[in-house]
Amino acid sequence: MKHVIIGDGVAGATAAEEIRKKDEDAEIHVLTDETDPLYNRIMLKTYMKGSLPKQYTRLHDENWYDKRDIQLHLETEIKQVLPENNQVETSDGDRFGYDRLLVATGGSPKKLPQDEDFDNLHYMWTMGDAEHIKKAAEESEKAVVVGGGLLGIDLAMAYAENDTETYYLIRGDNWWQRGLDKDGAEIIHKKMEEKGVNVLTNSEVEEIESEDSNVKVVVDSKGERYECDSMAVAIGQNPNSDILEAEKNEYEMLKTNEQLETSINNVYAAGNMVEYYSPVFEKRTFNGSWDHSEAMGETAGENMAGKEEDFDFVNTYGVGHFQAQFLAIGDWSGEPVSKNYEEENHYRRLFFRDDKLVGAVMIGYTRGQEELKKIIREKEAVKNREKLLEKSYWS
Ligand SMILES: Cc1cc2nc3c(=O)[nH]c(=O)nc-3n(C[C@H](O)[C@H](O)[C@H](O)COP(=O)(O)OP(=O)(O)OC[C@H]3O[C@@H](n4cnc5c(N)ncnc54)[C@H](O)[C@@H]3O)c2cc1C
Repeated sequence: MKHVIIGDGVAGATAAEEIRKKDEDAEIHVLTDETDPLYNRIMLKTYMKGSLPKQYTRLHDENWYDKRDIQLHLETEIKQVLPENNQVETSDGDRFGYDRLLVATGGSPKKLPQDEDFDNLHYMWTMGDAEHIKKAAEESEKAVVVGGGLLGIDLAMAYAENDTETYYLIRGDNWWQRGLDKDGAEIIHKKMEEKGVNVLTNSEVEEIESEDSNVKVVVDSKGERYECDSMAVAIGQNPNSDILEAEKNEYEMLKTNEQLETSINNVYAAGNMVEYYSPVFEKRTFNGSWDHSEAMGETAGENMAGKEEDFDFVNTYGVGHFQAQFLAIGDWSGEPVSKNYEEENHYRRLFFRDDKLVGAVMIGYTRGQEELKKIIREKEAVKNREKLLEKSYWS
């Protein structure tokens, strides 16, 4: 059996490992457009802040693939999948045949509409991006960061921890509106401000004034002007899905069934920017986190090697920039109940659909996280929602 995997992120690399565990005779190829084997994207935030040497972000070296008899093809960009021939074609015109294919290509950062390819405007996803942002943060005096999501905060902290005067523009009332109300976000705003970030809510980019291809001033929707010598933007991702013509959702994410197979036979998809049916949440969904991509890679690998496993996973996303730890679990689209505890910086928000717990966000106080995940996973009926917010329940 010949397996081809496009993408050497955590989803692709995990799938390759899993196939090898299940089938010692399989031929396995991992194709990636990157110059380096798998590294830890999460650790890139610590690298950009200057508190972790680059080599500690590495996860696999080429030896790792050799030892498992996995053929790694670096700097190999796939231009298109040709399912009618069971082949993929690289941008150099080379072709690789497959019996089973995995598309684990993730996404690429969305561009700011006002971007005119400015030299000092950065987006973050790869090791190369992290190197540029780290250097910019070390050299800049003033920076503007845009995007009130989980990646925007990492960019703001990268500049602030390098002693850059940082202005962080958030479009809505508060950071991470997807899962937090104002009370919870206020804790995070305060923690960022303690680290030197100027948090600006209800503020979005209206106009950019530039000189010699460099951003000089960012004018926001309130008419405020922020001078800067560097800018970084995290306003979401576009799926890298145009290489495959298969069923996709409205955002162009590849769609799969419970077993992560796309609408094309023997072509699987896993990782960021893949929509699938989740038996645990009983709906079609997608997710962008390390744990989730790793688990998807594992299930896709198992199924490519002949199993028929459903992907049934509850993910966790952590933000560890501050002493008050932030944890988000599961699905944050249910009906919320929340509590701001008397203890400073302790906050919890739970999300329900009917009598089922589907998600949780915790700040400062994270006790019971595994039990909460179990309640979600096992779809236990919760009669008293408020009870799960009481600290006495967890002590
Ligand atoms: C700074 C930062 C901080 C983060 N912090 C957290 C965190 O705290 N917690 C958390 O859970 N998650 C975090 N994440 C997100 C997490 O890293 C991702 O969800 C995860 O890495 C996604 O893995 P993946 O394998 O699905 O996709 P990716 O890692 O994006 O891998 C896809 C790979 O496919 C390659 N590729 C794309 N198209 C092609 C093509 N046509 N041909 C060949 N190769 C191609 C890409 O170059 C890439 O290497 C963070 C991410 C960043 C950048």
